[in-house]
Amino acid sequence: MVRVRFAPSPTGYLHLGGARTALFSWLWARSQGGRFVLRIEDTDRARHDEASAEAILESLRWLGLDWDEGPEVGGDFGPYFQSERQAIYRQFAEQLVARGVAYRCYATAEELKAARDAHTASGSKAPFKYPGIWRDRTDWPEHQPYAIRLKVDERGQTGWNDLVKGRIDIPNQTQQDFILLRSDGLPLYNFGCVVDDLSMKIDIVTRGDDHVINTPPQLLIYEALGHEPPRFAHVPMILSQSGEKLSKRHAAVSVLEYRDAGYLPEAVLNYLARLGWSHGDQEIFSKEELIRLFAWENVGTSAARYDAKKFLHVQATHLRRQSPQRLAELVRAAIRSDEAVDARWLADNVTLDKAIATATSRATTLEEVANTIRYALLPRPHYDSSAVAKFLSEAACALLVEFAALLESLPTWELGALETATQDWLDARNLSMKALAQPARVALTGQSKNAGLFEILDVLGLERSCDRLRSAAQALRSGAEEAPL
Ligand code: GLU
Repeated sequence: MVRVRFAPSPTGYLHLGGARTALFSWLWARSQGGRFVLRIEDTDRARHDEASAEAILESLRWLGLDWDEGPEVGGDFGPYFQSERQAIYRQFAEQLVARGVAYRCYATAEELKAARDAHTASGSKAPFKYPGIWRDRTDWPEHQPYAIRLKVDERGQTGWNDLVKGRIDIPNQTQQDFILLRSDGLPLYNFGCVVDDLSMKIDIVTRGDDHVINTPPQLLIYEALGHEPPRFAHVPMILSQSGEKLSKRHAAVSVLEYRDAGYLPEAVLNYLARLGWSHGDQEIFSKEELIRLFAWENVGTSAARYDAKKFLHVQATHLRRQSPQRLAELVRAAIRSDEAVDARWLADNVTLDKAIATATSRATTLEEVANTIRYALLPRPHYDSSAVAKFLSEAACALLVEFAALLESLPTWELGALETATQDWLDARNLSMKALAQPARVALTGQSKNAGLFEILDVLGLERSCDRLRSAAQALRSGAEEAPL
């Protein structure tokens, strides 16, 4: 069975690059009926905190990248945490010492500094390497902490056939007797990673290509352990449009920021997949299609460039593909925390569905949908003061009051009839639709830009529409022009 993993370090939030690495692994697992393992690499205590690990889990949950195993926590699977697996790393490291392929190193920080200083003083241009002080010694002092280092043969080269990048070979001369386990018992990244990938039976290691340099030492560890290594897939970076490393200046770098800005998880997955993977020139994919079509040979070998406009387009397309039920659910979730919203209207399916339907053709994000329809869920709209100043003149207000009377005089509340009656009424006054629609839109929604007048009337219904038309006009008449309506 295929087993893949995502192994983030909890150093902040889940950024787009990390999410894409997780996605590729997850897609492979799902397409092969395999297992997706999540492992939090939290052994570097100084750089990690619990909130970061939680943010990563929250991001993966939101994206729907579910993991399949881990220690049980409250009836659910937690991910694996490296900090809870120290005994395992110790066991593997001591095994290597016992087999003579690794050794105890009792060198103190002072000794190492002296060796480094001597190297600098010698004028050598070669980078400093640990000089093997304890490589062949067995006069181990008692009760003293020690690190465990791998005995590295610096001849030859170490290489692998990368699933994304093809053949990579790196001379062993670039290596040294590196530390596997520190004297405080914590594994260094390469060792913890290999021990875990091995004991979790991972067969494809997917990670960012900034980790290419870590693969040769990891392969040396597999060799020392006498195990076949897994396969590796190093995924190229995501760059900005101008080719720089993607940063806050170019994009919302954290996945959760996209959630908070009203993006849909399926849109984020779709866009991330397309950043570095392709299937002909198709741009829009459902999650199911991604699972069906994903293949390593179609992951690009060079860095992808983040394009905010394309991302928005993908988002807008997914927004329009949602069923009315799901959209209502998402909008409800997005709006629920807004205290000004009247729970009665938020619970009213007819109003909510109608309002959402008026917004989705223009909006790109859930946040825009929520902002467009909020007027229908509030007891009174929030009035935009510049829209009020621009459109609610004395004459316009008088017209709104008359329009309310017209609405009440109609025998039925039916959209077609409403539109015809309004047009006749305007014709008789020699007025354009615009002369009515703009002030009416402001009175009904508080905004100058929103849906069409008749759509808005339909959302609000007769009573609320007339009430808003009259009270907006009334507020203005009573000199409340400056005060909030
Ligand atoms: N923990 C590493 C990181 O977050 C990834 C290691 C790996 O995937 O092998 O960069």
